[in-house]
Amino acid sequence: MVFSNSHLALELGSWVYEELGIEGSVMIHLVPLDADGYCYDNAYIEINENLSQAEQSVAICHELIHWKQYQDTGVFEETEAYNGEIALYKQYRNEVRIAQLEIENGWSLEEKAEKARQVLGIDNTKIH
Ligand SMILES: [Zn+2]
Repeated sequence: MVFSNSHLALELGSWVYEELGIEGSVMIHLVPLDADGYCYDNAYIEINENLSQAEQSVAICHELIHWKQYQDTGVFEETEAYNGEIALYKQYRNEVRIAQLEIENGWSLEEKAEKARQVLGIDNTKIH
């Protein structure tokens, strides 16, 4: 479970938590910092509150990847965190967008996959 003093961090953080299969409690605290974020070895994460929302979001993804790494291996690995942060954030944005359209348009489950392809610009014919 994710705890936070920020709605953004709570929503995105909870999604990333599920996506990565993190276990136990994680605290994401937005505070003034001299860096984008920090991940401590006790599941405590700090995010710089002075960043833009998009920057905060990417930083939250980055630090949660670090916490998952620490849970799995006991070490923080920087390259994997940098490579994964944007992909994770984009995936979250896409899922939120699809969920919104689903509510707005009352899509059925059958429609959902096809509409999602259109929203995300996935072209069937290119996949062979
Ligand atoms: Zn890092």
